[in-house]
Amino acid sequence: MVKQIGNFPHRGLTAFDPTGLAPVVKEVERDDIALNVSLHRHKAGGRHLAYQERGMAVNAIVKYGSAVLREKATPVAEVDEAIRTLVGDMLASMYAKNGVGLAAEQIGRTEAVCVIDVPAEQACGVKMPLALINPRIEEAEGEQVGQEGCLSFPDVYINVRRAERVKATYLDPDGNAQAVEATGLLSRAIQHEIDHLNGVLLVDHMSPVQKVANAGKLKRMKRGVQRGD
Ligand SMILES: [Zn+2]
Repeated sequence: MVKQIGNFPHRGLTAFDPTGLAPVVKEVERDDIALNVSLHRHKAGGRHLAYQERGMAVNAIVKYGSAVLREKATPVAEVDEAIRTLVGDMLASMYAKNGVGLAAEQIGRTEAVCVIDVPAEQACGVKMPLALINPRIEEAEGEQVGQEGCLSFPDVYINVRRAERVKATYLDPDGNAQAVEATGLLSRAIQHEIDHLNGVLLVDHMSPVQKVANAGKLKRMKRGVQRGD
């Protein structure tokens, strides 16, 4: 059982079910969904606006080259209103960029929090979106190789080897202990986001050949961060 994102009384929300917030058009472009973790092509277009209307902020996504992406997240000691606000802001920020996952570092924060929203067909029966606080992978087995992207690495997509199935434990936004079991894209997304919380990035999964192929893009990203783009 996976409990969903909890109450947001301060925002006047009783539940964080996106279907209750806005009409969600899930026109899946199958290839892209199979290919990209952070590139959300299920046309959640406009959903972030529903979150913004409820006072949630769309933050700029931190790009590769920023030091915060290398920080190890700090476990959340108490799931309070500040954390629930962070979760809301992260969801709004993720939807604004059509991502399927986002970690706190990607909006410049260091709490051990990530959010995920994969299309229902690939959600392993888990209700989306998922907010994972202090997530930990308890079990991992099998293997999958698939193309992966990351909102902090615009236009970079590489094949990444991941476990096929994972079981993760976490706290939900009500502070309750939960567990989720996932395969396929959801499993990949969970592994990708927990990587972020450990300061591990897409670039760390690159083979030497992939690094050479993406060297120009990576260099431009770093330069952009230095310039303050
Ligand atoms: Zn990422």
